[in-house]
Amino acid sequence: MRSNWINNKEEMFQVIDKCDTCYVSMVDQNKMPYVVPMNFGLQDGVIYLHSSGKGKKMDILQQNNNVCIAFSTDHQLKFQNKDVACSYAMRYRSVLIYGQVEFIEEAEAKIEKLNIIMQKYTGREFSYNAPAIREVSVWKVVIREMIGKKLGY
Ligand SMILES: Cc1cc2nc3c(=O)[nH]c(=O)nc-3n(C[C@H](O)[C@H](O)[C@H](O)COP(=O)(O)OP(=O)(O)OC[C@H]3O[C@@H](n4cnc5c(N)ncnc54)[C@H](O)[C@@H]3O)c2cc1C
Repeated sequence: MRSNWINNKEEMFQVIDKCDTCYVSMVDQNKMPYVVPMNFGLQDGVIYLHSSGKGKKMDILQQNNNVCIAFSTDHQLKFQNKDVACSYAMRYRSVLIYGQVEFIEEAEAKIEKLNIIMQKYTGREFSYNAPAIREVSVWKVVIREMIGKKLGY
């Protein structure tokens, strides 16, 4: 099965849109990797995420806000001969993006971006109470570089 680069941005954004989870990787102060699965939203080529303001990922991002985010979908196991391990392959479409996390501070902007995420998962928007908005961290990742790859499609 041939693997190919995904060359057009539209297809890359379709891949991202189809995913319900992304994997956000970062590098800590000791140059050790750290990756967490997260939910996300996508609008106009920008990825939005949200989290608590505390925890390991926030400690890392305060020091180093560079991230690489992986998205992967359309997984399908295929084989040529069911008794030959090397004839098995997983069809997939995937995208990696590189960028930097910026934190959105202003309450109205936080609500707008949270609703981009909620819209993706529920198809609707919500209102939020002020303490919840104060506590939540809303992340914005402008895509600096985006690479797509697919196998079997
Ligand atoms: C499908 C999915 C969607 C998610 N969506 C979000 C989201 O949108 N926002 C969000 O903030 N979190 C989300 N999470 C949880 C996220 O993966 C982290 O567990 C969480 O954000 C805490 O991260 P932290 O760095 O603050 O960990 P801490 O609370 O500081 O964690 C302490 C230790 O726990 C370990 N750890 C942390 N997370 C995980 C994990 N997921 N699995 C195994 N070990 C772990 C690490 O070794 C870490 O050192 C999601 C998880 C899943 C599986």
